[in-house]
Amino acid sequence: MTPKKLPDNLHLDTLAVRAAIEKSQYGENSEALYLTSSFVQPDAASAARRFALEEEGYTYTRVGNPTVSSMEMRLAALEGTEAAIATSSGMSAILLLGMGLLKQGDHIVCSQSVFGSTIRLFSGEFSKWGISTTYVSQTDVAQWAAAIRPNTKLLFAETPTNPLTDICDIQALADLAHNAGALLAVDNCFCSPALQQPLRFGADFIIHSGTKYLDGQGRVLAGAICCSQRYVNEVFLPITRTAGMVLSPFNAWVVLKGMETLGIRMQAQSERALALATWLEGHPKVKRVYYPGLPSHPQHALAMRQQSASGNGVGAAVLAFEVFGNTPDALRRNAFAAIDAVQVCSITTNLGDTKTTISHPASTSHGRLTEDQRQAAGIHQGLVRVAAGLEHIEDLKADLARGLDTL
Ligand SMILES: *Cc1c(COP(=O)(O)O)cnc(C)c1O
Repeated sequence: MTPKKLPDNLHLDTLAVRAAIEKSQYGENSEALYLTSSFVQPDAASAARRFALEEEGYTYTRVGNPTVSSMEMRLAALEGTEAAIATSSGMSAILLLGMGLLKQGDHIVCSQSVFGSTIRLFSGEFSKWGISTTYVSQTDVAQWAAAIRPNTKLLFAETPTNPLTDICDIQALADLAHNAGALLAVDNCFCSPALQQPLRFGADFIIHSGTKYLDGQGRVLAGAICCSQRYVNEVFLPITRTAGMVLSPFNAWVVLKGMETLGIRMQAQSERALALATWLEGHPKVKRVYYPGLPSHPQHALAMRQQSASGNGVGAAVLAFEVFGNTPDALRRNAFAAIDAVQVCSITTNLGDTKTTISHPASTSHGRLTEDQRQAAGIHQGLVRVAAGLEHIEDLKADLARGLDTL
């Protein structure tokens, strides 16, 4: 997989449309979709060398595929990492990370506010394999430090979190991890590299759910780990080649083309989120708004510093708000009423789409957590999450007002 020759020091917007493998002999301007499970070999000896990974050349799509290579090159270029390895979904990227880095007896320190399925994976599957996890506060670095043990191999963070948009200090966690001989992985799904590049702050692995902003239009599942070439070649590729959680070429192509508009989408959707958050903060039926772009956000300054890959600090496109209510039942009823009145927004838990989505985390994305885990994560029954898309801001405000005004 020879990368396309490009000048050095290109900007992110340029890499987003240009980084890829070389064109085929036909000179296609839009990257080709190589929808094939295997590749014809020039001769038996070449096939032997390629299967032994002694010579470059594609053999079988579980081992590698040119469209997937282009997607990996483009994402790595955006994150600023040497390499990336694509997976079938964001969750399989996290599974691959654990399979590559951890063994029986190892220990993870993880924010208690990460994506619900990540907690299920660590507490359920990984613990069956003798890997334990300690969950700590997203924002209190002292708790992370106190949780580190001699067998801690991995610190795992996600920032901003879903749905409360808590920000962690990536640099502080990277320093902690490295002083303890451990590694730091950051799930960068919510900001995407257009807003935040965790490598700049010392992260060793950047996790993506390409399902979200990289695709950007809610079409396919995809995932990736961005890291050094050595980790891809020596640790992760041997696993995907065997275990098979690879990205399909079709999905890779969709994400590859989606990334071309990543920068302008992240800016436009963040602008809408900021406008909505500002308006919601002034709405009498709203108790509290969570959005890193608001000066009232507890880690606003950190967010503006960390989420500034595009030059200015940007709050990203996800926000959450709380309605009023005296009991968990009343809170849930009011949250449901606000959600059910929408006529424009989609009631769905996905995010990263051009279509604005609205959801009730406590009964959906975080519904499989125990009540204790949910309380620890701060997901109350009155909480509503909005992931801003590209609709006109006035239509979005009117849509949310429809339900809120009746409470
Ligand atoms: C959606 C999501 C994932 C999982 O990605 P899938 O592609 O759905 O498997 C992981 N982390 C975060 C932060 C997510 O939002």
